[in-house]
Amino acid sequence: MKEILKQTGIVIHNQKYKDTSSLISVLSKNELMTYQVKGVEKAGSGTLKFTQLLTKLSFNYANGSLRTLTDAYIDDNYSDIKLDLNKYNYALIIMEKLNNFYSAISEKELIYDFFNELMEILKITNYPKEVALIFEVKLLYLLGVSPIFKTCVNCGRTFDIKNGVFNYAQGGMICDNCKRRFVANLNGEESTILKKIYVTKIKDVDEEVLLEYSKYSKISEVVDEYYRFHLEFDSKVKKVMKELNK
Ligand SMILES: [Zn+2]
Repeated sequence: MKEILKQTGIVIHNQKYKDTSSLISVLSKNELMTYQVKGVEKAGSGTLKFTQLLTKLSFNYANGSLRTLTDAYIDDNYSDIKLDLNKYNYALIIMEKLNNFYSAISEKELIYDFFNELMEILKITNYPKEVALIFEVKLLYLLGVSPIFKTCVNCGRTFDIKNGVFNYAQGGMICDNCKRRFVANLNGEESTILKKIYVTKIKDVDEEVLLEYSKYSKISEVVDEYYRFHLEFDSKVKKVMKELNK
């Protein structure tokens, strides 16, 4: 008989598998793992609900070449997020990056806690876009491609960030002496906010902080450029959102 094991985690990806099954990717404390869920297409089987994106499950599974869910319990349905299309879209943006970059993140436990904390904020906030922005900016650190804020990326000197500019292709701040020779993707004030997003601890993020971030809409555009340039990543979810908002 196959061994039955316990796990807890959040469904961040799903796809159909064979005729009546699904495969789900579950983000747990130490891993992102694929599980087969059987019978999702069968009427009355009741397993379809375990395959929904953004659902926190406690479950048992049978180990094998493909792990198979044997039974599950929904710990959190995140209905506050799912009932608000805008919030759900930003959750999708976060999950898209998690799926794409998870294998490149060395601090697995940190990303699990980080994701959980951000989903708790997303439930209650009026600024879902800024919650996704926090994820995107801090993920750069976990991927080892952090922007440089402390010194000029061109000459190496330290300077007051307010007097410099941010250039995504250069990977950080350009000082007041060098800035004439570079494109300013963000001015000094915007760069200061980007740095604040980068360094502010999640426990210190509240509506007031998010409101401040929301006043600088250019930052999220520049962060998208940063992902394109340094990680060759373009969000498909954001592309769809833009098409729908035209
Ligand atoms: Zn310089």
